Amino acid sequence: MLIPDSYRHKGLRNRLVDELRAKGIVSESVLDAIRAVPRHQFFQDLAFVEKAYEDIAFQIGAGQTISHPSTVAFQTQLLGLKNGEKILEIGTGSGYQTAVLAQFGVKIFSIERQHALFVRTKKHLELMNISAKLFFGDGYLGQPAYAPFDKILVTAGAPFITEALISQLKPGGRLVIPVGQDGKQVMHVLDKQADGSIVSEEHGEFRFVPLLEKRN
Ligand code: SAH
Repeated sequence: MLIPDSYRHKGLRNRLVDELRAKGIVSESVLDAIRAVPRHQFFQDLAFVEKAYEDIAFQIGAGQTISHPSTVAFQTQLLGLKNGEKILEIGTGSGYQTAVLAQFGVKIFSIERQHALFVRTKKHLELMNISAKLFFGDGYLGQPAYAPFDKILVTAGAPFITEALISQLKPGGRLVIPVGQDGKQVMHVLDKQADGSIVSEEHGEFRFVPLLEKRN
């Protein structure tokens, strides 16, 4: 059962969009996507539903968190999504970011290493009618069977950038990945050129839960 999406929730989302705009999110399509997705429906504990439209991260079980809305918006903006693109997401988590990506009419493949979260989020996204192909596995390895991808998004803090992910990008493709340890990462955008070389840019500091190896 989904918690209903009321006018009050919609109002809170409009307020969140204003806050994200003030924090520097300029892409109208990203702001529209934030406005469209009922973030409160991704919360397990009804007691915290009221907090769903504050710009804060939240526990979602299995020691993991749903990212700050501003982080989700910022990473989505960096991706520069176009209708019909093929996207690989590492760290499905609650599925909130997945739902935001789905607003862009892209084809989504998403990997989660926590089995309990994978099972729960798969059911939840089906219930919300959000179409994404979810995998239980180690995101470090990417998803070679479905590669190459136009865009790859990593939603956990990676200690290093793996060759596997870069090799699964199309020429002209983009990888958005927070790199760093101890709860402090620098957002990296890596663009694969037509000749296969990589151009890298940095976009400020963020805090993510760590990207961990192997399945759990
Ligand atoms: N995008 C999520 C945020 C999840 S937090 C959301 O909107 O809710 C990061 C997620 O990455 C966690 O669920 C964590 O279990 C997962 N994760 C960590 N290491 C991973 C790996 N190697 N492969 C796939 N998922 C991983």
